[in-house]
Amino acid sequence: MHGTVDVAVVGGGIVGCLVAREIVTRQPSSTVVVLDRDAIGSGATRRSAGVHFPRGATPRVQAMTEYSQDYYRRLRAELPGSPIRSVDAYVVSSGATPPAGYLAGAELRRVDAVPGRSVTLPPGATVWRCRGCQHADVPALAQLLARSLRPQVGIGEGLRVTGVEPCSTHVALRLASGDTLTAGRVVLCPGPWLGDPAWRTLVPTVGARVKRVVALHLDHPVSRRHSLVVFDREDAFLLPLPRRAHWLFSYTCPEWDVDPDAPPEGLSAGHRREAETVLNRYLPRAALRSGRVFCDAYSDSGEPQVRTLDDTGRVVFAGAANGAGYRLAPAIARETADLLEVPVGSRSLW
Ligand SMILES: Cc1cc2nc3c(=O)[nH]c(=O)nc-3n(C[C@H](O)[C@H](O)[C@H](O)COP(=O)(O)OP(=O)(O)OC[C@H]3O[C@@H](n4cnc5c(N)ncnc54)[C@H](O)[C@@H]3O)c2cc1C
Repeated sequence: MHGTVDVAVVGGGIVGCLVAREIVTRQPSSTVVVLDRDAIGSGATRRSAGVHFPRGATPRVQAMTEYSQDYYRRLRAELPGSPIRSVDAYVVSSGATPPAGYLAGAELRRVDAVPGRSVTLPPGATVWRCRGCQHADVPALAQLLARSLRPQVGIGEGLRVTGVEPCSTHVALRLASGDTLTAGRVVLCPGPWLGDPAWRTLVPTVGARVKRVVALHLDHPVSRRHSLVVFDREDAFLLPLPRRAHWLFSYTCPEWDVDPDAPPEGLSAGHRREAETVLNRYLPRAALRSGRVFCDAYSDSGEPQVRTLDDTGRVVFAGAANGAGYRLAPAIARETADLLEVPVGSRSLW
């Protein structure tokens, strides 16, 4: 891939695909490419549990959550076959009050117990029914988005960016394939590859680190009637995956400064111990023997980062969504297009 484009999006995960979609939706005449050193949806996106909760820790994240939830609802209608499904959900709160940070649309309503699963409640804990949760097969969604964007958007898989060189008129992108692509603007959507040599000197201004993310598999009968259970105090959840015939338990793994390119070591005894310590409060003796282990970018502020990285304003970073990059991706894409000042429906911008 070589030549000149208006916008080059680097990283073909869920964030990069939605950034590209947002730009060409607003400005169909713009020329956009998505570059990925691997295949579309093969980074953190491939390992994502794909859960959306109507929750946010700050007003900005709550607004992003609300927007993204509505975006995905519309996407299901616009893109037939979107691998997104609504799930019934229950939130376990450690006290008598409803869990904090949920949107009004979640319509939290107290119930006696989690139906359909024998969840043991610690003393004083309460259960709240929650509306608006959904689950997506995130890599399948990224691939569907890429397919729907072709040929309007160039999809360059297997193209590693080795250099990002902004100047006053354009950005030169060096590719490992030997080509150079010239772009008016570049959006970096690198997921956990914050330290890639191509942008190592640009990205430190973002204020983000890479944390391990672990979700374990629980072999227990599962059907479409089962609900998602969120354990609010521990920031953990138990998700039924009927199409894969197992449950998935996600907990907060406290392992920092992980290298996404390190050889995969898989699940450790420590991960199992940490996860079972949390899960066994609610499901005594449940054993977790396998799972998915990867990492994601977490920002110092706890909010996703969308910002320019260089003096020319031509290189923009989008990501660091703190383990919520799937559910907040539509809002990240919107903020990115706003920052690039892509107007809705104009003929030519760059
Ligand atoms: C186990 C696990 C469970 C998760 N569960 C949830 C969940 O339930 N809900 C939720 O909202 N989020 C969840 N997340 C987080 C979510 O998956 C991520 O935040 C999201 O996928 C990040 O998407 P992205 O597009 O920013 O990054 P990625 O998907 O990582 O995409 C980045 C892309 O950049 C490419 N790239 C890197 N370097 C280069 C280069 N030099 N040149 C070209 N391309 C390059 C990579 O190949 C990759 O494809 C989970 C994550 C994990 C690991």
